Amino acid sequence: MDDGACRPATASAGAPLPFDPDPQQAGRLIEQAMGLLDGHLTGLAHRPAGGHEDPRELVDQLRVQRPGPASSAEEAFAVLAEVVAAGRESTSGGELAYIPGSGLFSAAVAELVAAGLNRYTGLPGIAPAAVALEAGVLDWLCELFELPDTAQGVLLSGGSIANLSALVAARERLDASGGAGRATTHGRVYVGAQAHASVRKAARIAGLAPAQVRVCPSSDGLRLDVEAVRLAIKEDLAQGYEPMAIVGAAGTTNAGAIDPLADLADLAVEFDTWLHVDAAYGGFFQLTDRGRARLAGIERADSITLDPHKSLFLPFGTGALLVRDRTDLQRAFAEDADYLRDLGGDDELPDFGQLTPELTRAWRGLRLWLPLQLHGLAAFRDALDHKLDLAEAAWRRLDAHPQVTTFGRPDLSIVAFRVAGDDAAQDAVLDRVNRHGSVRLSSTMIDRAVALRLAVLSHRTDETHVASALDLVVGAG
Ligand SMILES: *Cc1c(COP(=O)(O)O)cnc(C)c1O
Repeated sequence: MDDGACRPATASAGAPLPFDPDPQQAGRLIEQAMGLLDGHLTGLAHRPAGGHEDPRELVDQLRVQRPGPASSAEEAFAVLAEVVAAGRESTSGGELAYIPGSGLFSAAVAELVAAGLNRYTGLPGIAPAAVALEAGVLDWLCELFELPDTAQGVLLSGGSIANLSALVAARERLDASGGAGRATTHGRVYVGAQAHASVRKAARIAGLAPAQVRVCPSSDGLRLDVEAVRLAIKEDLAQGYEPMAIVGAAGTTNAGAIDPLADLADLAVEFDTWLHVDAAYGGFFQLTDRGRARLAGIERADSITLDPHKSLFLPFGTGALLVRDRTDLQRAFAEDADYLRDLGGDDELPDFGQLTPELTRAWRGLRLWLPLQLHGLAAFRDALDHKLDLAEAAWRRLDAHPQVTTFGRPDLSIVAFRVAGDDAAQDAVLDRVNRHGSVRLSSTMIDRAVALRLAVLSHRTDETHVASALDLVVGAG
């Protein structure tokens, strides 16, 4: 194995960094980190989303690297610089593929501070003010969605774990009324054909067999058909099964479509079951007037999944679940632990260890709180409004093109479309756009045929990125 740049030399000048560096050493380390981040963030918005370097050699080198003697910060950051340069610039403004995750720098600083303090927020007693700061953000989220005073929010690692936690809470509620184990033997979950895969995964982890998840069709290729759900529920009831939850999407991953949430809420009332709304992608559009109007009915949900690491532009690792009645979370996740007996509780503050699957946890609240403080709420509202404008403008241009068909005006900030021709024609356009590399699109299947997607969600995306993408699509088409 050669001693390439990414393999730190075994012996480095100077003593290893102590566990508790002195202020100069700490400052120097932060400077090194800032050097790396500066290099990455400067000009990032307009850097080609495709990326260039083939990382295979680096990947192979990193796989065989093992810890040993200390290396210097210079050496370690030299490795990191190579890691940063490899692969796609998925945080560039040109990233219009999948669900772009842009990552606010202010949240990165929050993460540094949270980890630097390492306060314990799994229970309220040790760092009550830190828990209160997080609880304040969570209460604001519950208010944003007009949930009642009984509501409780929790921060988790992402939308998948939020969906899982919601389905476990729904399962426990059905067990509480129908008898222990009832949900896993007789429960049924109703999801749309366009639901995110994490919903089906969550049902599986929650102990449901695949047949207990009814995948219901969409009325127009995009939005859950409420009558189809009603029929499925009636069919199941006639056979002795029980609805455990209906899951609606507030912004599907494929096309950003919003299921008919108010109708689904009616259905949940009619059959006395849990309504979960998966708003991992679309939830924070609730901050905008248009988004709020289109998400109407979400306030009637029993639970709502949000992903601040999507539509609040945070770095990865922060999802949220809002539950209408906190006793549903307690029933699902509270456990006694003898070794925590001397910590006691706090009637005013949430006990996250009793409300989530986690105990020891990152102080995620700071990642929301600091950006909201530093940028102000209006900045988020305006940015999301702008994403809606960009997507609508993109849709207008695509829809007006004779060789392009769209799926109608976008509900949020994703535009799905097809160019004239078969699946191979779609793939060919995608390939040409992505090979160009300045922007990236992605594809999906809608009604068993390939469709292209343009997803506007990065806070760095502006008119120029969307225009480049459309020029390439229309040129390529
Ligand atoms: C991204 C997404 C998820 C999964 O969230 P993760 O944060 O990736 O775990 C679930 N539902 C929808 C609609 C999504 O867009």
